[in-house]
Amino acid sequence: WCIRLCRSCNDSRSNLMYTYYISVGSNIGNRRQFIMSAYDSLSIHPQVHGITSSSVMETEPWGYTEQDVFLNAVWRVSSSLEPHDLLDVLQSLECEAQRKRDIHWGPRTLDLDIVYALSDDGACMYINDARLVIPHPYFWDRLFVLEPLLELDKEFTYNGESIGDRIQTLKK
Ligand code: ATP
Ligand code: CA
Ligand code: CA
Repeated sequence: WCIRLCRSCNDSRSNLMYTYYISVGSNIGNRRQFIMSAYDSLSIHPQVHGITSSSVMETEPWGYTEQDVFLNAVWRVSSSLEPHDLLDVLQSLECEAQRKRDIHWGPRTLDLDIVYALSDDGACMYINDARLVIPHPYFWDRLFVLEPLLELDKEFTYNGESIGDRIQTLKK
C-alpha cells in the first residue's frame, strides 16, 4: 500500500491529459503543513502538469462529528496519470503523512479523494470498481467539497444541476 511516489514515472502508456478534481482534508496536527507538503510533492510528479488549488477552508466534520474541525480544499490537477495510478500516488502521499485508518470518516492527517474527472475530450469519466469510484459517491452531498470546488469552477454542473443551486439546497 505504501508505494513509492514515482512508481508510474516510466509508465507512459498514454499521452492523454486528464483533469482531476481532488478533495483534500486534514484535521490532525499541523493540518496546513500536511496539505501543503502533499501539494508540493504532487506538483513535482513528472506526470502532473499543473495544479490549481482553491483556498483552504475550515469546515465542521461530516459523518462522524465527534472530532476536530477540518481544513479542506479542492485541487484541479492536469495529469497524464491514469486514474488508478493517480490513486496510487495519492495513497502514497497519505502514507507519507502517517495516515491511519481507524474510525470510518474519523480523524486523519491527510485525506485525498478523487471526486471528479474529465477525460482528454472533456467528458466526465465514470469508474466503479473495488478500489475506485469516480465520480465520488458523496461529493455532491458535501459542502466541504462543493464550496472550494465553486471557487475553482463557477460553471460546474452535475447531472444537469449547477453547483451554485446545489450549495443553496444543501444549506437550507
Ligand atoms: P469517503 O470516501 O466517504 O470520503 P474516506 O475518504 O474516509 O471516506 P478512506 O478510508 O480514505 O475513505 O478510503 C477507503 C478506500 O476508498 C480507499 O482505499 C480507496 O481504494 C477507495 N476509493 C474509492 N473511490 C475513491 C476515490 N474516488 N478517491 C479516493 N479513494 C477512493
Ligand atoms: Ca474522504
Ligand atoms: Ca479517502
